Amino acid sequence: MPIESFNPHTGRVLRRFTAFSWVKTERILGQAHRAAADWRAATFAHRAGILRKAATLLRERQDELARLMALEMGKPVTDGRAEALKCATCCDFYAERAEGFLADELIETDAGHSFISYQPLGVVLAIMPWNFPLWQVVRFAAPALMAGNVGLLKHASNVPQCALALEKIFHDAGLPPACFRTLLIGSDLVEKLLADDRVRAATLTGSEGAGASVGALAGQHIKKMVLELGGSDPFIVLADADVALAAKTAAQSRMINAGQSCIAAKRFIVEKPVLKDFLNQLKTHLLAFRPGDPLDDATQYGPMARPDLADELTQQVEDSVAQGAKVELHGGQAKPGTALFRPMILSNVKPGQRAYTEEFFGPVALVLEAKNANDAVRLANDSRFGLGAAVWTQDAKKGEEMARQIESGAVFVNGLVKSMPELPFGGVKKSGYGRELSYLGIREFVNQKSIWVG
Ligand code: NDP
Repeated sequence: MPIESFNPHTGRVLRRFTAFSWVKTERILGQAHRAAADWRAATFAHRAGILRKAATLLRERQDELARLMALEMGKPVTDGRAEALKCATCCDFYAERAEGFLADELIETDAGHSFISYQPLGVVLAIMPWNFPLWQVVRFAAPALMAGNVGLLKHASNVPQCALALEKIFHDAGLPPACFRTLLIGSDLVEKLLADDRVRAATLTGSEGAGASVGALAGQHIKKMVLELGGSDPFIVLADADVALAAKTAAQSRMINAGQSCIAAKRFIVEKPVLKDFLNQLKTHLLAFRPGDPLDDATQYGPMARPDLADELTQQVEDSVAQGAKVELHGGQAKPGTALFRPMILSNVKPGQRAYTEEFFGPVALVLEAKNANDAVRLANDSRFGLGAAVWTQDAKKGEEMARQIESGAVFVNGLVKSMPELPFGGVKKSGYGRELSYLGIREFVNQKSIWVG
């Protein structure tokens, strides 16, 4: 992939970048490795001061950052500003909490004194996607930096300006420049980086294919890895649910980022008695979303990030319809090669269809009928993915029981699935492994060292 900013709304290339050579990349890696020695020795208070300053800059620069995201991947500016603010909150969260999360943990053993000490690993390589160009990076970088690691970012090739803007924020906040660098490289150099002993660990958010190939390399080179991959989140609506609120939230969840979110609700599993009502209300809510220029404050959803992603989604829809799915709401692309994709609903989604088995990474709601609550859980779990899930029922206890039965990294009962600094985030099955955020996230990239003193 060329490293370039391409505006999916206008179809114009805004800027092309020359990819770093291996020589340049290796030089930056060397600087990062050397900087790691000082950074790990810095106090938590010192690191926290820098993270807090980064939070302030994220808030101050929210308009500029939102504009960059709108231009490079089509995110409406209102959502872009919210993303910048969420990143600021995450920086503040770890600035305040990291020291406590990584404090020595006393453990009683046969020793006079024994404990777990959490120590930084060194250089961590982050391979990140374009859908939340700031948030995906910050939820890695804030805990990693607070833990005393240093970061090298290989961002998706279509968001280089976002990647550079974030690097500048950390540098302007006072972080020694070598402690966080954006590498403008293609995926071809990732293997060399992972093979280098100075890279101690890696994290990747993206597709299953990218996760499988980078995960295999990390395994080959014995590198700790976190994988946050796709999802086909179920959104279960039981017969006793508040259908109006469920349908409103369903539309909101499916339309997050023009449908391009790993934790967007994708499969709507609805008990028969409320299916028709839910479908009608979902249709009304989806039709109310306003498309437009991502730079316009009134726009609620913009184009998909790249025309090829919209083409691929159209193909998934067409194949599913040929396999028996029914179009309940017509939308989609105006013509091939264009990035705007209007919301669609497919019902009668059954095994043997692409809609049943694959992730639909765009605004297409897939509706399945469930016979009862047990059947809903069975359908929810009949998926290769296991990232997030939602259950809607007036019976909170039942919702909680179902939450325990669903195979996923998170379940929200009567709420919108979202990520937040306090709760761990990640998946099971093909949605990946490892956790981001919370105290679990910051403990992924540390040496959990046992110290025994006799
Ligand atoms: P990719 O998974 O291909 O890209 C994500 C990141 O991984 C990018 O930085 C990319 O770099 C890098 N990458 C891809 N392949 C490799 C590789 N073999 N070795 C090293 N790095 C690699 O996402 P796409 O842009 O192709 O999106 C396609 C699909 O991915 C979507 O339809 C969706 O299913 C899934 N996806 C999931 C996301 C999530 O949040 N879980 C986010 C984005 C996408 P480069 O850009 O240079 O190729």
